[in-house]
Amino acid sequence: MFSSFKLGKLVGIDLYVHPTFWLLPLFVFGASALAGDVSDALFQVAVLLAVFGCVALHEVGHALAGRYYGIDTRDITLYPIGGVARLERMPERPLHEIVIALAGPAVNVVIALGLVAGIAAREYLTPGSLASPGAGEQFLGQLILANGLLVGFNLLPAFPMDGGRVLRALFALGLPRVEATRLAVGVGAVAAVGFGLVGLGVVANPLTGSQGFNPGLVLVAGVVYLLGQAELAGVKAQAARRARGRYTAVPVGPADDPDLFTGWRWDPSRRVWSQWQDGVLIREVYG
Ligand SMILES: [Zn+2]
Repeated sequence: MFSSFKLGKLVGIDLYVHPTFWLLPLFVFGASALAGDVSDALFQVAVLLAVFGCVALHEVGHALAGRYYGIDTRDITLYPIGGVARLERMPERPLHEIVIALAGPAVNVVIALGLVAGIAAREYLTPGSLASPGAGEQFLGQLILANGLLVGFNLLPAFPMDGGRVLRALFALGLPRVEATRLAVGVGAVAAVGFGLVGLGVVANPLTGSQGFNPGLVLVAGVVYLLGQAELAGVKAQAARRARGRYTAVPVGPADDPDLFTGWRWDPSRRVWSQWQDGVLIREVYG
């Protein structure tokens, strides 16, 4: 019905804003304005937009780490629940996946530390500015807090969060990719059940101690569970495609002539699939 709005380019990658994104600033403005304080409502919207600027930079972190390993990013889109960088393909070497997954939260750590350093420098130059914080200090304070929360939330060990990818990659250091994904998705499902129980008010929130219905957490629980299953299904399908490629490999020319091999070969010592055409190496895929 509505297409995503193209905001511009970041490091050569198209940045889009999903149409549902605008519901969030509208909701934030409406909630504060209804309470009777329009200037506070504008302040909250300004903080929200700045936080999503940080979310976009988080996605740029993933994209630049991917580019370092030769993986392009199609685009970055901002949704009300966060940002998504669509990489052309997922890295298959565990260490690459860990670096790409951690590059996003690392951007938020750098932003938060930069803002803290800026505030500290200002307090050093003009002592007392923190004792009576103005709108500027409050704005930066909220931004530091938001970046801290972005790091914490994204490192939760569940797909689609970055922590889920790190966990899968750690398992994949010693296990085949499908098994590693199955284990990581299992950990994510346990986390989803925990979110669901807290969100439904069955158990108290271990961080705040409060207990009650929280629709946001129930939504997170559903998303974590469903996207975990989708990730596992995708990895299984990819493995099945590869296995088919291997078993349908047909040597051409004399069967005993390895120089004319066509098909896939598995090298267990390097953990690499190689594709051959008439004895010529076409590409290698890390298994
Ligand atoms: Zn991320």
